[in-house]
Amino acid sequence: MAYDVAILGAGVIGCSVAYHLAALGRLRVCVLERAPQLGMGSTGKATGGFRCQYSTPINVRLSLRAREKLLHFQEETGVDPEYRPCGYLFVVSTEAQMQTLREAIAAQRAAGLTESREVSVEEIRELNPALYTDDLIGGTFCLLDGFTRPMKILQGYFEASQRLGVEFRFGVGAAQVWREGDRARGALLPNGERIEAGAVVNAAGAWAGVVAQQAGVKLPVQPLKRQVAVTFPFPDLPETMPMSVDVNDGFHLRVRDGHVLLLYPHALRNEHTFETDFEREWLDALLPGAYQRVPCLRNARIDVANCWAGLYEMSPDKHAILGEAPELCGFYLVNGSSGHGVMHAPALGELLARMFLGIELPFDITPLRPTRFAVGALNRDTGVL
Ligand SMILES: Cc1cc2nc3c(=O)[nH]c(=O)nc-3n(C[C@H](O)[C@H](O)[C@H](O)COP(=O)(O)OP(=O)(O)OC[C@H]3O[C@@H](n4cnc5c(N)ncnc54)[C@H](O)[C@@H]3O)c2cc1C
Repeated sequence: MAYDVAILGAGVIGCSVAYHLAALGRLRVCVLERAPQLGMGSTGKATGGFRCQYSTPINVRLSLRAREKLLHFQEETGVDPEYRPCGYLFVVSTEAQMQTLREAIAAQRAAGLTESREVSVEEIRELNPALYTDDLIGGTFCLLDGFTRPMKILQGYFEASQRLGVEFRFGVGAAQVWREGDRARGALLPNGERIEAGAVVNAAGAWAGVVAQQAGVKLPVQPLKRQVAVTFPFPDLPETMPMSVDVNDGFHLRVRDGHVLLLYPHALRNEHTFETDFEREWLDALLPGAYQRVPCLRNARIDVANCWAGLYEMSPDKHAILGEAPELCGFYLVNGSSGHGVMHAPALGELLARMFLGIELPFDITPLRPTRFAVGALNRDTGVL
């Protein structure tokens, strides 16, 4: 057999899986990527947010594990992921929203996160003086949260994998699972080439549902278009400003390399699509609310030509799907991170490799099992993002 494992997709998840399989198991791994180069999927579109403030213990555990790995990432891979713990600040205007955040803090404590905390409006003003706060009643903050560089994490795992002998093939077109009976035997390329492997990993991001379907496996992962507005250089807001999230409508913003990045998860013409054209009219929905919450933004100019859209990879309960597909032996799923895939990639790649190699897992990953949808055991996500 040519390879122990073939991985379909060389995004941050596929590269993390490849690295961990090679590092922990010395396996012969090949990664097959449709695109001609690294970072052309969702990873290259991500804004680099990192947070531990989630509403379920399993997502908090994934973040804490990923954070540990980010702290040692440079030693491990040679690349600085630029993890900067500037914090995430969630702000609310109603008691009901505050209650949701309190419940999230309880889930965070259950998973061992002690640094997240409730903050008063006064503290919100100190943490981010740019916010309009008259209609706020409070919020939460966690200083472990902050920012990373998605392309650095991708590059780190890519380069470290190559040093360990992982073979990458770019521009192969859409690879499919080579299935024989109830077993995955490897991958099939559009040119007819067969790549034999003991197991196949679906790391195709927003396209994972398509890859699974072609293999006769039901995987509930769908694309969801998300847009980012970027300003021309705007010095009025500091680079260290926490990611600030308005729980009322999901509007959030950060500063990266002197530009403000604005996100608003609503009001698109066409959300459930593989298209990534930027819908300009979305700015009309975004900007009035943005100006109200952050009045100084009225002085910033949107750089429309550099705004972009990309795809989240949504699962029905907005949690990752991790494990062997129940319908197909040797076909492993690491999908559906639902817009959190960069920050969780260090943990998900390690967990999949440990599971595959039979190495003890650092925590229970039952909530991520692929069979949960069939038995109605979905995770209860109350998170705004
Ligand atoms: C606007 C935006 C902002 C985001 N911000 C954040 C953030 O702040 N923090 C965060 O953690 N996440 C964020 N995300 C989500 C994050 O980008 C994804 O969760 C993550 O990149 C998923 O990684 P991946 O490797 O699964 O997918 P991808 O990076 O998309 O990689 C999948 C790869 O599979 C390839 N592929 C697909 N089908 C096939 C096939 N049949 N054969 C071979 N190759 C195939 C694709 O070409 C692609 O390169 C954001 C996403 C968007 C769109």
